[in-house]
Parts: sequence; structure tokens; C-alpha cells
Amino acid sequence: MAEGIRADVIVVGAGAASLAATYSIAAHGRKRVIVLEKARGVGAHSISGAIVRPAALARLLGGQARPLPFGTPVVQDEVALLTERKHLFFPAPPPIRSKGCLMVCYGQLCRYLAEQCESLGVEVHSELAAEEPIIKAGRVIGVKLLSGETVLADCVILGEGSCGLVTEKVVEALGLRRNGRRFDSYALGMKVVVEADGNDADGTAYHTMGYPLGIRRFGGGFVYGIEGRIHIGLVMGLEHAGAESGVHEAFERFLDHPFIRQFVQRGRIVGFGAKVINEGGYHAMPALVGDGVAIVGEAGGLVNTMKLKGIDLAIASGMELGKVIAAGKPLSEYPKALFKTAEFRAFRRARNVHQYFTHSIPAGHDGHGAGDGHPRPTAAEDRPKEGSLGFWRSLPELPNENGALFIPCALDSGEQPRT
Ligand SMILES: Cc1cc2nc3c(=O)[nH]c(=O)nc-3n(C[C@H](O)[C@H](O)[C@H](O)COP(=O)(O)OP(=O)(O)OC[C@H]3O[C@@H](n4cnc5c(N)ncnc54)[C@H](O)[C@@H]3O)c2cc1C
Repeated sequence: MAEGIRADVIVVGAGAASLAATYSIAAHGRKRVIVLEKARGVGAHSISGAIVRPAALARLLGGQARPLPFGTPVVQDEVALLTERKHLFFPAPPPIRSKGCLMVCYGQLCRYLAEQCESLGVEVHSELAAEEPIIKAGRVIGVKLLSGETVLADCVILGEGSCGLVTEKVVEALGLRRNGRRFDSYALGMKVVVEADGNDADGTAYHTMGYPLGIRRFGGGFVYGIEGRIHIGLVMGLEHAGAESGVHEAFERFLDHPFIRQFVQRGRIVGFGAKVINEGGYHAMPALVGDGVAIVGEAGGLVNTMKLKGIDLAIASGMELGKVIAAGKPLSEYPKALFKTAEFRAFRRARNVHQYFTHSIPAGHDGHGAGDGHPRPTAAEDRPKEGSLGFWRSLPELPNENGALFIPCALDSGEQPRT
């Protein structure tokens, strides 16, 4: 790409939020839009579950009942409480019921959306990482790439996902942090994909609680069978103190649990990855608009902790921003439009839930109803209880009974992996 290139709109990142914004602009307007994605291809950095609530996607792509030509519809949810070696099924709490949603490979969804954008004339460039914003007199006028080149535009859309490099700099430089305080908290999502020997896509979405996180650490697991592959993951809150409770070890313990291992052993692990998830919710959102710039999706903290969903919010935010830009309206109209969507209203209703989970998982489920009318716990109450560490100390040693780690973690240390 030549230095000093100009576009009407630059979009940083090619996740669901960015691509929904891009598609909306391209479908409703005639602007030159350039999408910059740092991964080697669209979808290559896209790690998610993923169960997608289809309403926002259907609105984006034209209202079909089944908006995608791929994916496995969820026909039932099973919630398993894992003890150290056993499991117990119990009914799924309403917020995480996902019957009627689609289980998809998130990378495939992003590639599909990128193709839709390209068919409307949008330029989607991979392997181009935006490194910092270009700000002139308080207005964002473009981005500088890692390669040193610059791209200038009338409007910059930031859809970098969690902990975005450019987003953080823009939020600081333009003073977009609301209330002057940070309420951010994070989880790490880790997953493996198993190429199954048979077809495991029977439409059951398994959600797990308990082992290896115990009842005080925020998080849980999932097993989704999607078109011949089994996606197995664990999301673990990162705000608890305690050096002994490493995320890699937790994931190994999870994969080694008999209930989970039966899925791991149905085939061969063909992929694994991890990604940070914003868990701060509504209270942690920055302002979504500054002069010349708008933030969409998880970069703006838009993840519904109560429903364990971020993709529908990402798409809703991108779509509402895209419509505002295509119509030539001021960017300040974007949050107003987003706040009226069903996805955002559900997100706002869940604004106190994560704080309840920091006390214990049962408290979190009590807090599932906590929305309007419930006071938000104070910052001091957000801190986890130290007692949660006792659970970890009592767990048996790894390696597991067959002496193998599922995912070797010693590759950089020069040690031979034990698989
Ligand atoms: C393990 C796991 C399971 C999950 N399960 C679900 C689920 O079942 N359902 C659900 O709805 N949500 C789920 N989520 C959350 C959901 O995946 C996210 O909320 C959603 O992907 C956010 O979309 P986004 O477009 O805002 O950001 P992302 O999907 O993170 O996309 C951001 C993109 O921007 C690129 N990028 C970042 N910085 C730059 C830069 N400086 N320059 C160029 N490119 C850049 C990245 O490479 C990436 O492609 C899960 C998340 C995880 C990690």
C-alpha cells in the first residue's frame, strides 16, 4: 500500500464489529472504505466460541430467518456442574439458553462477512497492523501502520477487539474514559478444536461450571459440535490473585476432566488458541465517539457477560455506526442509535452481573437478575475473596493419569514437550 493513502473511512480490524460497520456503509452509501487487518488473513486471529444470536446478523444481511449458509442451529442447552471427576446436569439458567441461535466457527463468519463487503467494492487488506492514531488538533485523521506508512481518512472506525492498541491510545488522548475511572476486568478464553471422527453436530450446546475454577472464580467451559468439529473451551476470570492458579494449568485440568475428555478423544486436536475477553460490561465502556473516530464491538467494551455473548453486540454496534456514516449524519448519532437496539438494552440490563460473580458463582447466578434497580457493588467489593485460593491448593498434581499434557507449554523453555 502506498504511503499517505486516503480513504473516506478507515476500519481498523476485521472482526464482526468492523465488518458489520463496513458492510452497512458499503450497502447504504458510496464511500471508499479500507479495512486493515493485522492477521495473515481475515479470520486468522478470530477466536471465539461461538454461539451467535442471529437477530443482529439477520438485520445486517437482509432479514432472512437463517442469515448464514453455514453453522449448526442450537437445539438444546445442557449445563454440567463439574466436580473433580464427576458431572451433574442441571437446567440452563435463562440468560445462557441459546436454543435457536447458531453455532459457528467465528473465523468462517468473519471471512464470510469480508467476502460480502468485498463484493460491494470494499478493500480488505490483511497483514496490515495499525500501530497508532494520527491526531491533529484533537481530531483523529488517520492511522500509522506498523510498517511506518500512514492512511488518512475523514473517519476512523476502531474495531480492534479487546485491549486494542490504537483504541487505548485514542481513549487516553481524547479523554474518552467515562467518569475518569476504569472498571475494566478481563477473562482469558482458551480453546481447542477437535476434528471429530464422526459427525458431532447434533445441536447440543454444553456449558460447564465448577471444576477446575471452583465456585469463587468467574468463568466456565463450553463444548460445541459444529459441522464435524468439536470446539472445546474454557473462559477464566483474570482478576483473582494467586500465582498458583495459572490459566494454562486450568485449561489442562479442564481438558483432562472425564466429561470433557470424552469429547477431546473423539478425534485429533487440529487447532488451539487463546484470547482476552472484556468482562467489565456497561460500567467499563469508554465513550464510543470522539472527533473523527468511533469505537465498535469489544474495543468499546461491548460484551454481555450475563449472556456470554459479544458477537451480536459487535454486529449491532457496527451496523448502527455504518448506517449513520452512510447517511452522512454526525458520529454522535451512533451511540443514540445503538442504545435503542435490543442487544444494547440487554447489555445494559446486565450491567451489575459481573460484579456479583466476583463474590462467588452462586452469588453471580443470584445476580443474574441484577439489572435496573440494583445498586452496583462498590470498587472495593469488586475484589475477589482470598479464600478462593484454598480450592486450588487442594487439587491433585498434574500431569494427568496418562502422563500427558494435551497442549505442551514448555516449547520456549528448551524442554521437550511431554505429549
Ligand atoms: C473463547 C471465547 C469464546 C467466546 N464465545 C462467544 C460466544 O459463544 N458467543 C458470542 O457472541 N461471543 C463469544 N465470545 C466473545 C466474542 O468472540 C467477542 O466479543 C467478539 O469476537 C468481538 O468482536 P469484535 O469484532 O469487536 O472483535 P474481534 O472479533 O476481536 O476482532 C478484532 C479484529 O481486529 C484485529 N486487530 C486488532 N488490532 C488491530 C490493529 N491494530 N490493526 C489491524 N487489525 C487489528 C484482530 O486481529 C481481529 O481480527 C467469545 C470469546 C472468546 C475468546
